[in-house]
Amino acid sequence: NDYPFEKDADLPVPSDLKRHYDVVIIGGGGHGVATAYYLAKYHGITNVAILEKGYLGGGNTARNTAVIRSNYLTSEGVKFYSESVKLFQNLSNEFDFNIMYSSRGQLTLAHTDATVRSFRQRTEVNKHFGGRTELIDPQQIRELVPTLNMNPADMPILAGLWHIDGATARHDAVAWGYAKGATQRGVELHQLTEVTSVNTSNGKVVSVETNRGNVGCGCVVQAVAGHSSIVAGMAGFRMPLTSYPLQAMVTTPVKPFLNPLVSSSALHCYVQQTGRGEIVFGGGSDPYPLYNTRSTLDLKESLIASAIEMFPFMANFKLLRQWAGTTDMTSDYSPIMGLSPVDNYYLDAGWGTWGFKSTPICGKTMAELVASGGKVPELIAPFSMDRFDVFRQVNEMGATAASH
Ligand code: FAD
Repeated sequence: NDYPFEKDADLPVPSDLKRHYDVVIIGGGGHGVATAYYLAKYHGITNVAILEKGYLGGGNTARNTAVIRSNYLTSEGVKFYSESVKLFQNLSNEFDFNIMYSSRGQLTLAHTDATVRSFRQRTEVNKHFGGRTELIDPQQIRELVPTLNMNPADMPILAGLWHIDGATARHDAVAWGYAKGATQRGVELHQLTEVTSVNTSNGKVVSVETNRGNVGCGCVVQAVAGHSSIVAGMAGFRMPLTSYPLQAMVTTPVKPFLNPLVSSSALHCYVQQTGRGEIVFGGGSDPYPLYNTRSTLDLKESLIASAIEMFPFMANFKLLRQWAGTTDMTSDYSPIMGLSPVDNYYLDAGWGTWGFKSTPICGKTMAELVASGGKVPELIAPFSMDRFDVFRQVNEMGATAASH
């Protein structure tokens, strides 16, 4: 039996691959299944196959630390992520399935005057374009997070960026909610089905080869996160991406003491407590490109050192698990979405370390793109791949980095 999930009634599993689909989605992570869901539910397009080389949501969707927020730096970013947060807030109702959305607020710490200045800018941009963000002083920070060390690593906390819309959700539930909604409307999810090459003719994609045979298609959506460069290479073009490992870790559960999500770019660390009481830590990508999802001692030591600076009593906590994913990074820390050099081959990539929070809006806008036959929705137009040719980068480096 090739299909370990065949008996799950909630998730209809197709037996054979058909010879042709209107839409082939490469990648059964959150973005791929969300695109299929919006195609089926809002555009009536159901002759769709999601081809996933592993299992549903087993890539970065399973590995992320589930931070949801919209307090970005650019108008393009704030508009886009704010729409995603709105969709997230109603997702359990939309699915009739609990995604365990937990609204906590997110606090980012400033340890230098330069950071305070950039937070002021973010506050104003957020106010104008739909994010709910304000600059708060050390006293307000103490009240929000009484257990926080206000002088971590001898870098006094001068101010904080308080984003009331910061939240988390159960990442597996998000993938399952979308997958159930899509497959129950007729979309086929083929797990253990790897795309091994992409066949084009006259600048258009006509079919993909898989480990289970050839599949003809009307168009393709590529949503493979850390493997974006590899799969784009199969379609015959290069992407301005570099793939880095990104690691995270979690402790055994302790009593609830931390409601907001707390992050410090200067310390390369963010910390949050899950609904089960575990403490999740994350930081920046590993400092070298690599296709590997191993964990390292270096990162364990540096991340724990920063977390203990922020919350010294965490020195007594026990680490439960450490893991990694492969992230496809752009140089401006914004995604690459929309058209590609191949006519009917659409891109959802460059999601690096920050793409869980965008899952709903990516699904919605990618479905609009496909359903319209290639008319790029306004919200994602700034993220086109050709921005790198014409120097129209959307620089989110300061607002992404270790904040995710
Ligand atoms: P994935 O879930 O990776 O799905 C892509 C799928 O494509 C995979 O399942 C893979 O198996 C499949 N695939 C690849 N190649 C092929 C092929 N040839 N044929 C068929 N299938 C293929 N984002 C946030 O917003 N907040 C966070 O707090 C956050 N924390 C993170 C922490 C870590 C440690 C990591 C690794 C990432 C984090 N991210 C975070 C980023 C986020 O996880 C990703 O951007 C997001 O999950 C991307 O979703 P996806 O569906 O595009 O990718």
